[in-house]
Amino acid sequence: MFTSVLVFWVILVNIGYDVHNNTFDWGKGVLMLAILLLVGLAIGRFTVTLMAKPLQNLAAGMKKAQLGQLEKIQVSRTGDEIQFVGEVFNETIQALKERDRQIAEHREMLEARIQQRTDALREAMERALAASQAKSEFLANMSHELRTPMNGILGMLDVVLESSLSGEQREELETAQRCAHSLLALLNDILDLSKIESGKMGLERIPFQLKSVVNEAIKTHQVRARQKRIELVADVAPEVAETVYGDPMRLRQVIGNLLSNAIKFTESGHVRVILRSAIDGKEGRTEFDLVVEDTGVGIPADKLDKIFDKFTQADGSITRRFGGTGLGLTITRRLVEMFGGRIWVESNEGTGSKFFVRIPLEVAQKSKRAVVEAKDNGPDLVSLDGRTPEILLVEDNAVNQKVVLAILSKRGFHVDIAANGLEALSALQKGKYDLVLMDVQMPYMDGIEATRKIRSELRLTDLPIIAMTAHAMTGDRERCLEAGMNDYASKPVNPSTLVHTIMRYLDASTEAAPAKPETVEAPVQAKEGNAIPELAPLQAIDRSLAARLTDNDTNLFEGMLLLFLQMAPERLEKIQTAVARNDRAALEREVRKMRSAAERIAAVSVAESAMRLMDAVESRQQEDIQQSLMALETQILRLSRHSSDSAKPADPANQDAQQLRAS
Ligand code: ADP
Repeated sequence: MFTSVLVFWVILVNIGYDVHNNTFDWGKGVLMLAILLLVGLAIGRFTVTLMAKPLQNLAAGMKKAQLGQLEKIQVSRTGDEIQFVGEVFNETIQALKERDRQIAEHREMLEARIQQRTDALREAMERALAASQAKSEFLANMSHELRTPMNGILGMLDVVLESSLSGEQREELETAQRCAHSLLALLNDILDLSKIESGKMGLERIPFQLKSVVNEAIKTHQVRARQKRIELVADVAPEVAETVYGDPMRLRQVIGNLLSNAIKFTESGHVRVILRSAIDGKEGRTEFDLVVEDTGVGIPADKLDKIFDKFTQADGSITRRFGGTGLGLTITRRLVEMFGGRIWVESNEGTGSKFFVRIPLEVAQKSKRAVVEAKDNGPDLVSLDGRTPEILLVEDNAVNQKVVLAILSKRGFHVDIAANGLEALSALQKGKYDLVLMDVQMPYMDGIEATRKIRSELRLTDLPIIAMTAHAMTGDRERCLEAGMNDYASKPVNPSTLVHTIMRYLDASTEAAPAKPETVEAPVQAKEGNAIPELAPLQAIDRSLAARLTDNDTNLFEGMLLLFLQMAPERLEKIQTAVARNDRAALEREVRKMRSAAERIAAVSVAESAMRLMDAVESRQQEDIQQSLMALETQILRLSRHSSDSAKPADPANQDAQQLRAS
């Protein structure tokens, strides 16, 4: 500052001072001073501009970089630090650009790789799905092929075991028989599970009587429970609804699995099935609580979670003793979940187990359309506006014709038979029917085509058509409905389900009238505390069990029944001889054989009588033995009558059918 003022003063004095006159020329001085100031300002401004520009460039470049715009700045060649900083900035920008390029390249590469992998995965998944689809199709198609030879093996083993064999041969064949039984059980479980896992198992929605399902399950297991001297009782709350909608066969399977486990793992005490209405659930459904309680070996606490897993058994040693595959509870849980319910267990080792199932079911509303209920003195007869309802049964299989005919004529229906779609069309042109029962697979014209023609050509759009098919696939049901059928009844025909389904489509009323009972009497003994009135007589044949045993193969079943009836006199004779000779060992052996042969064709009343004879033999009461033997003979006689009844073409309806076929 001092230097500037001094220079300013010297310049001012030197320019403005007139040495000759020794005076100071103010005009000249001021002018010069102004020129000097202007020149100074210009130089200052030039210098500032020269120095500040690169800094401004740098600042602007940095701001852009902050915003993600990587641009180089202009660097002035000033040769100083500012040029240096500018160049470093540009190099940094260059490096950043290179890095971004590499990242972009890398990302593209990754995306391409991800795309490649996704494509490969999609392809693999499609292949896996196709394979799984093929597997389930294969299993569904093979289920018949797998089960039928197994039933053949078991049947033949039975036959060979009947012949005279050396002790060693007998033992070996009995081992083969046990193995074949285990294999069949495993096969059934695996087929069921694969059907569930492949989504092929659909649940039916048909009206059924909840209490009867429990009752039937109890009946089926009563023989085994008696054998183990375990009390098997049911306790059904009175408020439980009579008729619900759902899949009775699968519910029976759930109860059956739990019951057979309970009996299997119980050595003494009781097994109890409890059924209660729990709460009103969603969508008009009622939640039912089903409990299967036993006083058996129980399950260790650390295994409680695992027993529902595939192939898991709580205790290897116990299972070696009791047998089993470890699939039963897995299937049970999956079925319960398909119903929209849940299952859980409470158990104490050594004291017993309680399996709880909570299941929502839609309760059938009581309507004008009556529900047919089996009465002790026979089923009610159905009438439609005071007349006999007319049914056309379209079915090619003679055995199925007889079965359906027998079921429906007993309930007061009049049934005509057509053996295929073509015959059905001509019958419908000639006569008036209230309802058609339509088989799906038939020669000449199948049920699907016949239905289409009935709807389109005959224009019988209101005529109820109910499909009857043994096909396991859910898709079949859709095919039937899509062709114009109203409903679906699965084979083998469950009498009450079939009648219920028919009743839903006829605006019918029932008139109670005595009719020939369909079942034979062999009442299960009522237990104390048993709320299910076990008055329902034991059926000669448990049809649903028979269906499961023969995989719905009616022909196979008929063959097995015939074989049983052919062998029965010889078997009975052996038992009678053993009784006469008081040969306990032979008696036990023969009765056991009779029972297992009866169980194999689901002849529950014969199996039950054989069981009683066994008890009598053990109690050594001669009178009891004689009485039980007589009861067994009666049951066998009834069974043979029952089977010939359903095979006899005595019904007028059947004669009509023959006329119809002849025409
Ligand atoms: P398994 O064919 O072995 O019976 P499950 O899946 O039905 O297969 O049962 C799995 C295991 O759960 C059984 O092996 C057994 O250890 C246990 N378990 C099931 N039910 C009972 C029961 N009522 N009492 C004791 N243990 C049971």
